[in-house]
Amino acid sequence: MLKGRTAVVTGGSRGIGRAVVERLARDGANVVFNYAQRTEAAQDVVRSVEEAGGSVRAVRLDLAEHGAAEQLMDVAAQHFGDLDILVNNAALNFTVTPLAETDDDTFDRVMTVNARTTFLTLRYAARHMRDDGRIVSISSLNTVRPAPGNAPYAASKGAVEQLTLVAAQELGPRGITVNTVSPGATDTELLRGTNPPEVLETVAGMTPLRRLGEPADVADVVAFLAGPDGRWITGQNIRATGGIG
Ligand code: NAP
Repeated sequence: MLKGRTAVVTGGSRGIGRAVVERLARDGANVVFNYAQRTEAAQDVVRSVEEAGGSVRAVRLDLAEHGAAEQLMDVAAQHFGDLDILVNNAALNFTVTPLAETDDDTFDRVMTVNARTTFLTLRYAARHMRDDGRIVSISSLNTVRPAPGNAPYAASKGAVEQLTLVAAQELGPRGITVNTVSPGATDTELLRGTNPPEVLETVAGMTPLRRLGEPADVADVVAFLAGPDGRWITGQNIRATGGIG
């Protein structure tokens, strides 16, 4: 279905990003993903994709560094040719902290990794993506269900959603679709690192489907938007939340 397409996924070594890499590769795309630190986790993804017959490259790049986003996209172009699919997935969140105690550095770092990276990759796509491309950025249920204690994260995801809306308008005439997927609570290290188990049990009980999301639940929605069947959907925010929001 995606045979010969070049796909970039940010933050593909774990969680939702890993599931997206595996799914796009299974659908036939040549996938390049980055990670920040966990080389072993990234190698594990490469192994799993290659064992399944897929084509993938992992690049260690910290998206907080200047030039990293562009470097990632360049690596993909060098290995596999011009970009067809972009998935903005990498994000930082920190332990829940009230606004009054959130310092400047935390705000700057979260906005840089989550929002500035999305701006930079969208700008790269606007300049270099092939016609009829697909862009999916991962936001969060958090923008419609704000919770106390994560102002920088919520602000960064608000920016991701707005960037999507503008890019959809600008890139539509070239057949490029640009959408957001907003997961609800999804069982990953990011979720477990910011919520104690009893909170997660309560959250799971609040969904009509009575469970936490799995990374593949979100990856399958991304793959739909990234594939040929998603051609008529652009500028949308799809909530993959198990029914909340
Ligand atoms: P995760 O398990 O924490 O994985 C994050 C990924 O991003 C890892 O591959 C990590 O690389 C990479 N990354 C983090 N900081 C980076 C940086 N500075 N530079 C480059 N790569 C970086 O996260 P997740 O839960 O799968 O979340 C994926 C997306 O879904 C995020 O956009 C998140 O906001 C969104 N989301 C998640 C949930 C949830 O409940 N999990 C809910 C709503 C939205 P390393 O392995 O090297 O650290």
